[in-house]
Amino acid sequence: MSRPAPLGVVVDLDDTLYPQADYLASAAAAVGVAAGHVGLDGAAVHAALRRELAAGSDTGGTIDRALLAVGVPASSLAGLVPPLVAAFTRHTPPRLSPYPGAEDALRALAAAAPLACLTDGNPAIQAAKVAATGLGPLLPVVVVTDTLGGRAVRKPHPAGLVAVAARLGLPPERLLVIGDRPGKDVAVAATAGARAIRVRQGEYATAPDEPRAWAVVDTFPAAAELALSVLGVPARA
Ligand SMILES: [Mg+2]
Repeated sequence: MSRPAPLGVVVDLDDTLYPQADYLASAAAAVGVAAGHVGLDGAAVHAALRRELAAGSDTGGTIDRALLAVGVPASSLAGLVPPLVAAFTRHTPPRLSPYPGAEDALRALAAAAPLACLTDGNPAIQAAKVAATGLGPLLPVVVVTDTLGGRAVRKPHPAGLVAVAARLGLPPERLLVIGDRPGKDVAVAATAGARAIRVRQGEYATAPDEPRAWAVVDTFPAAAELALSVLGVPARA
């Protein structure tokens, strides 16, 4: 079965362009400092939060669980959690190194086709991450799904991909999505009948291929090379 060639590329951010664990470590350290300011053992809170984040960064309530783990009574959470969540949310990582070769690969994609980033999360945090990677100039179009309707429209909800397609002026089915999470990046592509390349790296590197991606690779540069090989190039006069 042949499909028309993709005309634009959509890349995920976390664990696709840079290792999200680096951001989480940096944010957890900031929460540890803030915990010290409210009279808690900052180092213990930092360590507990890192354990919670390692167990699953996408589950919510990680700060609550970290405080309970260091012996904070449940009755004190309501007062202690908000300033620590604020410290997490406001944290601006100074520098997040992209995966090896990711910057050059992104530059090659940007030169070849319309390119956008589609990412889930707190919009301020996602913007701070893009800035810290230094990849912002290569990503003039960044759509954070949460700005379209909160957590309910995070991938694989189709709203983000539809918004990206509109920004790029392309039909959603002619986009090629590159991302690390089958259940988000591959699944959102499937909602539009678009192709997806799964990059097997980061927290979900060993997750099953469900749904199945058009291709599976081990690095972002490998994904970009594959994308470049299938992109529809406008006919030259
Ligand atoms: Mg990701």
